[in-house]
Amino acid sequence: MVDDGSLDDRYTVSTRHWHRLGDGRMQCDVCPRACRLREGQRGLCFVRGRVDDQVVLTSYGRSSGFCVDPIEKKPLNHFLPGSSVLSFGTAGCNLACRFCQNWGISKSREIDRLSDAAMPEVIAAAAERLGCRSVAMTYNDPVIFLEYALDVADACRARGIKAVAGCSFPATMTPTPRSRRIALEHGLRYVYTGNVHDANGSRTHCPGCGATVVERDWYVIGRYELTADACCGRCGTLMRRSRGLRPVRTRREIT
Ligand code: SF4
Repeated sequence: MVDDGSLDDRYTVSTRHWHRLGDGRMQCDVCPRACRLREGQRGLCFVRGRVDDQVVLTSYGRSSGFCVDPIEKKPLNHFLPGSSVLSFGTAGCNLACRFCQNWGISKSREIDRLSDAAMPEVIAAAAERLGCRSVAMTYNDPVIFLEYALDVADACRARGIKAVAGCSFPATMTPTPRSRRIALEHGLRYVYTGNVHDANGSRTHCPGCGATVVERDWYVIGRYELTADACCGRCGTLMRRSRGLRPVRTRREIT
């Protein structure tokens, strides 16, 4: 039941992405779970539910905590490398992974106890004040708090700060050294080991000459052999046609 659900609650907002079914239930269309709700029921994510004959989000402006991280910790190795990101998440999740590292918040039913109030403009201003180039909605799947996430992204954009949404599932998988090797053998170019200390598995190698173009130790960047136009500094191979690969610091600034 949406036991604390009320449209009078400052953290509860109406949503648009749902439709009514022939049997009187309402189907949330935000994610593939397609929860079909009767009055007073919550969806699998727990933060969306049916109140007063509409589907609402009950966690708008509620964050489960903030942290300033290196962008490489997200893990994003090809996006504003070397920059800081302000990370936050909310309670609840539409996934039910048995290996979840954030189970305490993703499956929490204690939203009040775990949440801080943080409206979008406050988050964007904090990121700017802390020198973060981006804000990451992370720890749980941000699609469940879609309305909040979009407003945070808009507030950040207005200040020239990028918004990072969890990236997609394949991009946020963190391979073991063995699965990284298999992925490389099957032709993937940029695969990074995650959650273990693996210096070689954290480096970006040129697909042309094999040289190390970005050296990392955990999340600290060492050698940096990438040119300003995203080419290998040794052989000139274009690493990727992505704006995200453009360095935010020159090699001289790093050394
Ligand atoms: S966002 Fe939540 S309520 Fe909506 S379909 Fe997904 S799990 Fe269900």
